[in-house]
Amino acid sequence: MSARPAIRQSRNSDRAQQLLAWYDRHRRVLPWRAKRGERADPYRVWLSEIMLQQTTVAAVASYYREFLRRWPTVKKLAAVPLDDVLTVWAGLGYYARARNLHKAAKIVAEEFGGRFPDTAEELRKLPGIGAYTSGAIAAIAFDRQEVAIDANAERVLARLYAIEEPIAEVKAKLQTLGRALVPEKRAGDFAQALMDLGATICTPKRPACLNCPWMKDCGARKRAIQDLLPVKGAERERPLKRGAAFVARDATGAVLLVKRPEKGLLGGMMQPPLGPWTEDFPSAKEALLQAPFRAEWKRRAGIVRHGFTHFELEIEVYTAHIDKRPNTEGRWIEDMSAAALPTIMRKIVVHALDDGGPLFGYAKSARRR
Ligand code: SF4
Repeated sequence: MSARPAIRQSRNSDRAQQLLAWYDRHRRVLPWRAKRGERADPYRVWLSEIMLQQTTVAAVASYYREFLRRWPTVKKLAAVPLDDVLTVWAGLGYYARARNLHKAAKIVAEEFGGRFPDTAEELRKLPGIGAYTSGAIAAIAFDRQEVAIDANAERVLARLYAIEEPIAEVKAKLQTLGRALVPEKRAGDFAQALMDLGATICTPKRPACLNCPWMKDCGARKRAIQDLLPVKGAERERPLKRGAAFVARDATGAVLLVKRPEKGLLGGMMQPPLGPWTEDFPSAKEALLQAPFRAEWKRRAGIVRHGFTHFELEIEVYTAHIDKRPNTEGRWIEDMSAAALPTIMRKIVVHALDDGGPLFGYAKSARRR
């Protein structure tokens, strides 16, 4: 080995040890994280990593606990119908994750006897597991020498190496730089340490460099450009879509919900009947044609807004009180907390019912969240 790679290797090894020493003192306590000296449970690691995709630790914690309480093993999760999983997942967003979670649980239970594959390559073959998640599970659950570079880790590395190109253009480079840092031993701790450093010290705004184990070595800090990195690309404007929702309540207070198609946005989740999403709201006349059945539909004041990854949605809400249930598609639900209602649909129902009339216990609890 020539002198230069050897020096680089030893420098990387020093950095890994500095980060691990910091982690030993400052690691976060998280519900899914093994305690010091404990072996990580692959099921818990997998469950938490799927939930944490594009979602914050704070949002995930209560869902994670509820999943584990109901389904403490992958076999138990695999044995329940998908609808049960979607119902408990409701509100966490990105619902394809829940469908893939259930599919993957079935594969692990039925084809692997309930044991997760222990390499990143094999893990990547399971639904819902990409490069980042397979690396994270392989490192954390099986201590494989794998790298897990998410947005937090990208930020830390872009600063450590003072990379000034837009982050979207240097993903492969960051992956290579990150991989070179992973130590042979304690790869799982290293992955979690990098996550913790990004979440608590090397934060998007005003990083706490004085508390950072890489302070002396950090390229961005040496040049005082840490607040400018990473360089983001231009933000794409999200198109706006609009539509109407129809919330019908019968004499018992039950609300009509229909199931969305299994594939596509919010697939398999429940919703009140909705018209198409287009450039503008339907006129009152058009809305009546979109309604699921004839009734005295009244438009509620106000608009329900929701941001999806690729577009913004605005919904006008029509309500109707009926004495007799019409013969129409869907289910009349009294206990909304038992329905797989994603956040946008929950907002619509709450908006419709919050009219001074009797509120469902569900609607009250939804507003407290
Ligand atoms: S020194 Fe500052 S900018 Fe550099 S890695 Fe540490 S926290 Fe981030």
